[in-house]
Amino acid sequence: MAERLIVIGGDAAGMAAASQARRRRDPDDLEIIAFERGQFTSYSACGIPYWISGLVPQRDQLIARDPTTFRERFDIGVRLRHEVTAVDLDRREVVARDLANGGEVRERFDTLVYATGAHPLRPAWARTGVEGVFGVQTLDDGAALRDWLDTDPRPRQAVVVGGGYIGVEMAEALIQRGLAVTLVEKASQPMSTVDPDMAKLVNDAMHGVGVQIRTDLEVTGLQERDGRVCAVLTSDGPIPADLVVLGLGVRPNVALAEAAGLPIGPSGALRVDRRMRVPGVDDVWAAGDCVECLHRVSGMPVHIPLGTHANKQGRVAGINIGGGYATFPGVIGTAVIKVCDLEVGRTGLREQDAAAAGFEFVSVITESTNRAGYFPGSRPMSVKLIAERPTGRLLGAQIVGWSEAAKRIDALAVALWNGMTVDDMTALDLGYAPPYSPVWDPVLIAARKAVEALGR
Ligand SMILES: Cc1cc2nc3c(=O)[nH]c(=O)nc-3n(C[C@H](O)[C@H](O)[C@H](O)COP(=O)(O)OP(=O)(O)OC[C@H]3O[C@@H](n4cnc5c(N)ncnc54)[C@H](O)[C@@H]3O)c2cc1C
Repeated sequence: MAERLIVIGGDAAGMAAASQARRRRDPDDLEIIAFERGQFTSYSACGIPYWISGLVPQRDQLIARDPTTFRERFDIGVRLRHEVTAVDLDRREVVARDLANGGEVRERFDTLVYATGAHPLRPAWARTGVEGVFGVQTLDDGAALRDWLDTDPRPRQAVVVGGGYIGVEMAEALIQRGLAVTLVEKASQPMSTVDPDMAKLVNDAMHGVGVQIRTDLEVTGLQERDGRVCAVLTSDGPIPADLVVLGLGVRPNVALAEAAGLPIGPSGALRVDRRMRVPGVDDVWAAGDCVECLHRVSGMPVHIPLGTHANKQGRVAGINIGGGYATFPGVIGTAVIKVCDLEVGRTGLREQDAAAAGFEFVSVITESTNRAGYFPGSRPMSVKLIAERPTGRLLGAQIVGWSEAAKRIDALAVALWNGMTVDDMTALDLGYAPPYSPVWDPVLIAARKAVEALGR
């Protein structure tokens, strides 16, 4: 009899694990069944804001592989609309509820992949059933929001609650749909994933494209008319809204794992070893937004829920399940985002993270341009570097600017990953031609300034 792999969660991490395991093991050796409570497999949640804005016209463009493809090309069974409600490690079984037809199924497993993702935070005021309040975690959420945009009377005033990257991307999407948008943020600035001096640039650019930003303000409730939202309530009075989008962050979806006795780490996510194996139990693996991983700079366990990690971690789990050997070496917190034409990149530690991790450091910001100053389309670019004192090792970097800014962070991420010092970086052989950079690339200028700040 073939061994059986059960996967809980049919998106990035779960299906990457399933696909990699299948590449290495035939169906008569390993049967693979994935349980997915939603209606889709392997979709790009990252693309939802661009589908909402209309830049990506069709929902199905966001689906990389549907269940038919998994079944016919990979011999992987998918049980859509099946929610796993319990994991029984003693009996080696999962229990699942059939959400479409009712009833319960039990399936035995030899190997389990736990890839349930993360839950969006939804405060009590957002759970009252008032119409016009949306999360954007899944394609179903996105579809409901798109339908609302086309419902009569058409919404005109949106409030986005939370200024993390999803809130910022959604504010942009709704501006592009022609709505008046207010972004409400509890902190003193949106985009807290970069330091306040760099976030200020994002804040100003969002103002520039017409987003009203209300900071140091918390939404406490909703006002409704005929069951539809008409305002959000705050300590500073109501803000009119006929559409509310939640971007309050996520927490790891580990309830089933916790109930089964699997180990939860200090970040609140599931603990795994370097091979994505859950420690202390045989043949149970986990990957994606539900797990924590090592931050290679701070040395701390962190929960950084990003698609880029979920895909890599799922791949690593699948290779190992398939009999190969692979490890996930940790993260350095690299991320990019755009707000209309403004691009933001970050990697490594912010100043507050570096201080919390006990580093002594210097930080510098340089103002430069994305192209040679005389070249058409030359625009400002700010680069911030944080370097350990006295070693000069790069600890973190942030870039804000117009075109060619965001992906420049990748050069800095590679330098940081490899433990380079800012002294080494001043001599990096980066490409130069006037359409792409000034003769001294902004990254090199920033490295030189950091060396000066270190007193060399
Ligand atoms: C709007 C938006 C934009 C984003 N943009 C980016 C970006 O630009 N770059 C980036 O790197 N990341 C981005 N992300 C994050 C990225 O989408 C996630 O990190 C990634 O999807 C995580 O993959 P995952 O497989 O771990 O979890 P998920 O994609 O959440 O998949 C988990 C799956 O498990 C299913 N599930 C959960 N519990 C059960 C259960 N009990 N039974 C059965 N099924 C279950 C869920 O229905 C879900 O389909 C974005 C996310 C959103 C929402």
